[in-house]
Amino acid sequence: MSGRIDDAGDDAFDIGLDGAGPNGSADQASEGGAYAIMTPRDLIIAMSWRSVRLPRKWHARRTNEGLVTIIQVPSQAWVAPLGDYLRDHRRGIVLVDGKAKAKDVTTSDSAIIAGLDRGLHIVGIAVDPPSHLSALLRGAADDVVIMPAPTPELMRGVIAAFTGRRCPAIAALDIAGLDLRDLAVALRPNTTPASCVKRLRRASSARNLPVDDATPPLAELAGYGEARRWCLDVVSDISAVVDGRISAGELESAIFFGPPGTGKTLLARSLARTSRLPLIQTSVSAWFHDNAGHLGDVLRHIDDVFTRARNSAPSIIFLDELDAIPDRKNMDSRSRDWWNSVVTSLLLQIDAARNSKRGVIMLAATNHIEHIDAALLRPGRFDCHFRIDPPDASGLAGIMRGHLGKDCADADLKALATLMPGATGAEVTGIIRTARRQARQENRPLTAADLKAAILPASGRTFDELRHVAIHEAGHAVVASALGFQVGTVSIRATGKAGGWTDVAIPSIPTLLDIERHVMVLLAGRAANMAFGSVPDTGAVSDLSEATRLIGAAKVTFGLGDTLVVRAPPDDVLNLVARDRALADAIGRDLGRLMTQTRMIVAANLDAIGRLADQLVERLVLDAQEHLARPVDQPPERSGSERLGRRLS
Ligand code: ADP
Repeated sequence: MSGRIDDAGDDAFDIGLDGAGPNGSADQASEGGAYAIMTPRDLIIAMSWRSVRLPRKWHARRTNEGLVTIIQVPSQAWVAPLGDYLRDHRRGIVLVDGKAKAKDVTTSDSAIIAGLDRGLHIVGIAVDPPSHLSALLRGAADDVVIMPAPTPELMRGVIAAFTGRRCPAIAALDIAGLDLRDLAVALRPNTTPASCVKRLRRASSARNLPVDDATPPLAELAGYGEARRWCLDVVSDISAVVDGRISAGELESAIFFGPPGTGKTLLARSLARTSRLPLIQTSVSAWFHDNAGHLGDVLRHIDDVFTRARNSAPSIIFLDELDAIPDRKNMDSRSRDWWNSVVTSLLLQIDAARNSKRGVIMLAATNHIEHIDAALLRPGRFDCHFRIDPPDASGLAGIMRGHLGKDCADADLKALATLMPGATGAEVTGIIRTARRQARQENRPLTAADLKAAILPASGRTFDELRHVAIHEAGHAVVASALGFQVGTVSIRATGKAGGWTDVAIPSIPTLLDIERHVMVLLAGRAANMAFGSVPDTGAVSDLSEATRLIGAAKVTFGLGDTLVVRAPPDDVLNLVARDRALADAIGRDLGRLMTQTRMIVAANLDAIGRLADQLVERLVLDAQEHLARPVDQPPERSGSERLGRRLS
């Protein structure tokens, strides 16, 4: 932060704007041509300064009682030029700008105190919100005045004044995303107003097309359900804002959540492309990694991102990986202090962006909405929440078609899609890339067979290994069905780390009995492998950890054990188990009892498990409903299940 005392001379304020009144229109301003001697940058500053509503006291002659005014400018690029401008035109002020370095604060603070002791006028200049100014200055401020980013009308006036000629109309999008320097360099001496506008337009589209042509428009996207419909509504709302039919304050903001690779980022980019708005995209986790966790740097990063979005408005800001900011309710008090500063600063910025009424649409994405701090999800911040799940078969087929373009025009993409249930759009991209590589290597066009081979790759597993995985998954499926759960797809297609998985619909509000049955389904993979002669191996680790967590949660989260005391949120149960020996022992006893019962169901259904495993080895992916005829011990079907079940691996 720099502080400077400049109290020589009188305090007459003259911004050198002969020729136009305080509310002069573009045409008025051009009449005198009085600005032609100023540089474009100074002219923009001067005319923007005139649009600032100054407090009454600013105009009073020196009162000797001291006055503190904070001026909020549109971006950091305005701080120094406005400072120079005020120094030249306003005497008797102490200027403090917002380029703070912590070590300067004391010096500046003493300058502020000394200035006020002498009855001077202290003026702080900073971007909005003025968190870079010292707390002393912010606390002492008598007034905070806003110097808005230039409107199209103001720029029209500037161009008219600069060229001395009438300027054609300028639209909001013509100057969207342009900072002070961009605006200034579009104004060149001895050129016409029309060519200045053309340069502005060119600069704006160069800045605002980070969304490349490869991003499909919303109309070409498949597989997003409700979220895509909301985006289409936003596109019409944006047109209504640009045409002045609705106010920018009515634009909503949204959070997209769901598994990675489901296209949340793509949807945000597609909305930006379709609405032709600038997209300010940032990864929240990068705020912390890039800055080695220094709080000041993180806060500055947040300020920069939001300042850019406000100055580019109407614009879209996309905060990816929002869950990198943890929920404060699950924190100890020391971490909470650090994170409070981050969350408070982010909330201030979000509120400032939404209240600016200039049309900043905020989008965020997370894989875990349950980890998001409640303050971020309140109305007026991220209003709408959309779950984005892996697409269904027709969604997958649509995504394949989008990525294939005109290739494989005759392929039955729906049939191919049924071979990869649960796959995400990102997996589809990978599959098509692999298939294209294969065709390229053999110097021939891409075929449906290439796609099928990429969807069901030879995994490098031996027959025995495949059958072992198939028995494991068949165990999950048959026991689930025997216990009355609905079973969907069973797959031993190798994807990522999982050798296979089974889709089971689990009740959304389970009782203790439901939880125990769910645990039996989890244990059934290992039980089946053992029943077919294998010794226990490491392949059931994710099943066992989920089974432990569920039984633990019944006892310490849901009040379904001996006590109603809640000792840990569901996600934290395993940490508690690791620390609490008695709890681990109690869970161990329950798991042992449930494993015995599971092995009995497996023993009674060996044929069904064997048959399903054979089918799986042959086809890799199948719909269990078609293959599970009548398992033994089948209770009536359960109701109230989640539509999309849990995947057991
Ligand atoms: P997320 O943000 O949910 O992790 P991304 O948007 O980064 O997912 O998706 C990664 C890539 O996967 C995208 O660039 C795109 O190529 C592909 N993709 C994902 N979902 C879709 C979809 N619905 N339509 C087309 N492509 C998709």
